[in-house]
Amino acid sequence: MSTHARHRRTTPTRGATAQAYTEPMNPVHSPPHSHDHDNGHSELSEMDLRVRALETLLTEKGYVDTAAIDRLIETYETQVGPHNGARVVARAWVDAAFRQQLAQDATGAIADMGFGGRQGEHMVAVFNTATEHHLVVCTLCSCYPWPVLGLPPVWYKSAPYRSRAVAAPRSVLADFGVALPANTAVRVWDSTAEIRYLVVPQRPQGTEGFSEEQLAALVTRDSMIGTGLALSPAWSAASP
Ligand code: FE
Repeated sequence: MSTHARHRRTTPTRGATAQAYTEPMNPVHSPPHSHDHDNGHSELSEMDLRVRALETLLTEKGYVDTAAIDRLIETYETQVGPHNGARVVARAWVDAAFRQQLAQDATGAIADMGFGGRQGEHMVAVFNTATEHHLVVCTLCSCYPWPVLGLPPVWYKSAPYRSRAVAAPRSVLADFGVALPANTAVRVWDSTAEIRYLVVPQRPQGTEGFSEEQLAALVTRDSMIGTGLALSPAWSAASP
């Protein structure tokens, strides 16, 4: 378990674009480079090879169980992910009592829907309105609500996002294609080892009469981090 309790601010990186958020924090060198490798024509990246070597070593020493690793990977590939959070948001849109419960005790409300576990023990839900937009970051590392959103995207862990989300949140939102009205305040929430946030985006217009399932399909991962908005039905219908 992560032990950090306080988060420090980092120096903002000026001029970064959305592309910058996709860069790894500690990039390994990439082509072009001409020196010979002795791994033949492996299609694995250097990072993949490092991970594989580490896993092999740990397995050989008996520190990890490959079956356990496989179960973990399968869990986060098939069971845990943003589709869970989308169901929570859709329920909050249609059920006022649940919305209130979510506001007062997010951990309990989310658990009642069957979602809980590691990195989601202390959840807080924040609700976007016409006058207030919420944005979540972990300035220190990558704290993220796993049970409802799965594992964090690479950009969430990048240094530019972690610093600029605090220093220039509107600029970050613009990089993600989100333009808010000038009178909409932006609140930035810094995740910690203890508290993880779920943004409940505004319900899109034109969704009256939609079922929870239909609504959940409009809830994107980014909209639950605050770097996006829920999809409009028109956009959703037009997409493949
Ligand atoms: Fe963190």
